[in-house]
Amino acid sequence: MLLLQAGAKIKRGSSISNWVSSFTYLLSPQHQFEFKFHSFPSPVVENTYSADLCSNDAINYAAILRSCIARRAIDPGKQVHAHMLITGRGYNIDLATKLVNLYCVCGYLSDAHHLFDKNPKKNIFLWNVLIRGYAWNGPYNVAISLYYQMIDYGLKPDNFTFPFVLKACSGLSNVEVGRDVHENVVRTGCQNDIYVGAALIDMYAKCSCTSDARRVFDNIRVRDVVLWNSMLAAYSQNSCPEECLSLCGEMATFGLRPTVATLITAISASADSAALTQGRELHGFSWRQGFHFQDKVKTALVDMYAKSGSVKIARVLFDRLMEKRTVSWNAMITGYAMHGHSNEALDLYRQMTHPDHVTFVGVLQACNRGGFLELGRSLFDSMVRDYRIEPTVQHYTCMVDLFGHCGEFDEAYGLIKKMTVEPDAGVWGALLNSCKIHGNVELGEVALERLVELEPDDAGNYVILSNLYAQKGRWEGVAKLRKMMTDRGLKKSVARSWIEVRNSVHSFLSGDVSHPLSDEIYAELDRLEGLMAAAGYVPNTSQVFHDVEDDEKTRLVCGHSERLAIAYGLISTPPGSRLLISKNLRVCEDCHVAIKFISKIKGREITVRDVNRYHHFKDGLCSCGDYW
Ligand code: ZN
Ligand code: ZN
Repeated sequence: MLLLQAGAKIKRGSSISNWVSSFTYLLSPQHQFEFKFHSFPSPVVENTYSADLCSNDAINYAAILRSCIARRAIDPGKQVHAHMLITGRGYNIDLATKLVNLYCVCGYLSDAHHLFDKNPKKNIFLWNVLIRGYAWNGPYNVAISLYYQMIDYGLKPDNFTFPFVLKACSGLSNVEVGRDVHENVVRTGCQNDIYVGAALIDMYAKCSCTSDARRVFDNIRVRDVVLWNSMLAAYSQNSCPEECLSLCGEMATFGLRPTVATLITAISASADSAALTQGRELHGFSWRQGFHFQDKVKTALVDMYAKSGSVKIARVLFDRLMEKRTVSWNAMITGYAMHGHSNEALDLYRQMTHPDHVTFVGVLQACNRGGFLELGRSLFDSMVRDYRIEPTVQHYTCMVDLFGHCGEFDEAYGLIKKMTVEPDAGVWGALLNSCKIHGNVELGEVALERLVELEPDDAGNYVILSNLYAQKGRWEGVAKLRKMMTDRGLKKSVARSWIEVRNSVHSFLSGDVSHPLSDEIYAELDRLEGLMAAAGYVPNTSQVFHDVEDDEKTRLVCGHSERLAIAYGLISTPPGSRLLISKNLRVCEDCHVAIKFISKIKGREITVRDVNRYHHFKDGLCSCGDYW
């Protein structure tokens, strides 16, 4: 009987029998790895698995390696490997595969690759474990190149190979290779395999090809709940909340019971669409199904309520969490920050112990919304110094936004110039937006120049600078930008607003007359205008893109999509109830002023979520403090 001792280090020069002689491999009832030193020879205690390496080497090596793999135990695994090499017994392709797998799961990719290369005969299992190793740990392109090498080697990929290589494609967002792998999936007849299907859906989703993902999903004949969850996640990740929620409804008609993952995906989709009613229904549903006890579901609900502007409900749920993980703190902090409750966000931050990079995005946003310049600066420094978090492009965006907010343009531009990562459109967009608010034409032009390089097709950037020119009465600038847009074939994005009334979503374009209640809506807008004028409202038409007559401008701003949505909300909901509107672009300055008046005149809370942030209008004021 040979007993190996795990704790024993292989000392140079020590005899094999020395370290091999007392290796005891214990399995506790909880299947924890436990090793005990004891002098050799010693009785084998109860509960001890002792490997009799003399009589049946390969089987015993395999059993030990399986346990090492399951427990990611590299050190004993290495000793077993050494033992195999020294004794030269029992080594075969199956053990080689297990060893490669062990090195992979423990993250020792180069050792795994080295061992892999040393086997002259390679079977599909050996290829698969190495491809999986790279698909999990990266570099992903090695996984992909191994996949092609394996085909050249004369092997046919199977239903284990495909999910791994597709995961590598997802990691690289490489849809071209993904499509090639997909063709091979069909050629080898694996297209109905649930795991391959889920991997294909995930790959297409990560590459933003949701309709391809849906085609894969529809073509699989027998679909289980995991596959449904993959498709739901695909919609949720790609900001298609309506599709996600409707697929969720479809799932029930197929007689499938949702899982925690289904619920979390659906709840976050409703959070993204600000569909509060649907979110509430999902909350009720999770209660009825007994899922609401789970902290993960509760955290998704906190996030949903916070994003939909019901921060009070979010806070109640947050306080009831049994275990507050960083992600739960982040949901609540980000929720507060988004809605301009800067002090609450910062208070929570002070109570938490393990902030991560997401937390700092939240707290820096809170500083930005609150205009807390000094605090923002010191939190940014503390993040780098005390928490050793490398600033990401989002952190820089928050800081540029904060400096811009406070009119500190030298600092904003200075920070962009010394960023450790490449500034993206978000950073320049934040600068451009600040320039627009403070009327800084020179820097605005610089920002637009960079934005045009990064997002040549985004008309929104031109419009912001054009509005800045218009504010300053520089019509030649407006004309120049308009010509640039025409030359490049760009059209101003169509503004659209949505309002949810009694479970159905109504959508409005600027000047829209297609709604069945269109006449009533315009009549309400007329009434409102009279009341607003009496309360001191004067239309601000500087934001109108075209250089047109004043009367015409007034007509144009008054028909903005968010106003139509609000007018519809006012005539179709009980007095005093809250209105929730989403808009795909920024709210214009004139509408912002008008909505403040409307909230006061009508005694309504109105929440508008535009592309940048949330505005909560109440009693003639907005939570953004007129900065957005
Ligand atoms: Zn407007
Ligand atoms: Zn506002």
